[in-house]
Amino acid sequence: MFSNDTIQRFKQTETPFYYYDLGLLRNTLTACRDAADVYGYQVHYAMKANFNPKVLQAIQSFGFGADCVSGNEVKSAVEYGFGKDKVVFAGVGKSDREINAALDLDIFCFNVESVQELLVINDLAGAKGKKAKLAIRINPNVDAHTHHYITTGLDENKFGVNMWQLPDVVDTLKNCQNLELIGIHFHIGSQITDLEAFKSLCVRVNEMSVWFEERGFNIKVLNVGGGLGVNYYKPDTDNIADFNAYFKVFNDFLTVKPGQEVHFELGRALVAQCASLIASVLYVKNGLKKNFLVLDAGMTELIRPMLYQAYHQIENLTQDAKAEPVKYDVVGPICESTDCFRKDVELPESFRGDLIAVRTAGAYGEVMASHYNLRDQVQSVYSE
Ligand SMILES: *Cc1c(COP(=O)(O)O)cnc(C)c1O
Repeated sequence: MFSNDTIQRFKQTETPFYYYDLGLLRNTLTACRDAADVYGYQVHYAMKANFNPKVLQAIQSFGFGADCVSGNEVKSAVEYGFGKDKVVFAGVGKSDREINAALDLDIFCFNVESVQELLVINDLAGAKGKKAKLAIRINPNVDAHTHHYITTGLDENKFGVNMWQLPDVVDTLKNCQNLELIGIHFHIGSQITDLEAFKSLCVRVNEMSVWFEERGFNIKVLNVGGGLGVNYYKPDTDNIADFNAYFKVFNDFLTVKPGQEVHFELGRALVAQCASLIASVLYVKNGLKKNFLVLDAGMTELIRPMLYQAYHQIENLTQDAKAEPVKYDVVGPICESTDCFRKDVELPESFRGDLIAVRTAGAYGEVMASHYNLRDQVQSVYSE
């Protein structure tokens, strides 16, 4: 729901653009921080969800750490003032150059995803005379009950070390003088709305924690990843995730020993609701069986619907929302048949020049924009 003033502003701005509601972002960050503080939990923001400068500045100012998945993200996190002691580096394919850069920056922790990676980090740290702190990313084989394209914690996924490979990890660690195991790390997927999945995760974390302790390791950090989902169907009435319920699951089901820290890596839940993609109707095409609304934004601005069949609420900001609905396939201008936001969207009768909002686009939106078809870089507009 946008105020009339905001819609007036949209009318004077060239489309397409991302509109960021920074007030809602701050309210979301406050809710998350307050809920985490109850249990002394540490939250690292998963920077890949959105690295827009204003978003990063806001998140950094709330004291969150940064969860990075590339060398450039690590570098950028430090530049934005995320303390080095709060920067973690995950990813299944870290290059030597990226590892070296992270070693030079003395980041808090590498989340390591294979035995071979352990050996590489050990060598590179040794060459620098450093000891790298790491957490082993364990593939817990827990079903996140989310879309199969964004599930990450099953045996068939490429991420993490499978449990049957852990004895190998332990043997390797014993021979690696330049590595210090400080934690165990998990991330089971994204857009998880059924908190039961996190209960199953807690059970697995508890087992794994004991397993490592029994082998003489002191596990200081339990990093349970991110993945908390948001309500894509109710961007106005349910626009802040239930962080209290989320953290409570971990408080209820995770066994935490004195001195042990619990870390989270939330991305989507912090930023998804704070942005919308604002576009204009270029053409209304009436076909035999279909009506198409052709927008001036497409998969080059927001690829989630095309990439993983993601749902986003679509609204016509120009016409009266209560008018008799017409069904449209809402499509973009890109030369791909998949360039469709959604089929059979019910909207008031729409016309060339109408403003269209694609809601809940703050996570994995602007950051996935591309120049395919030599399209312009999508612009950003801020509430303040
Ligand atoms: C993407 C990612 C996250 C964040 O996931 P969200 O669903 O956005 O919360 C956390 N940890 C790792 C390792 C990731 O790759």
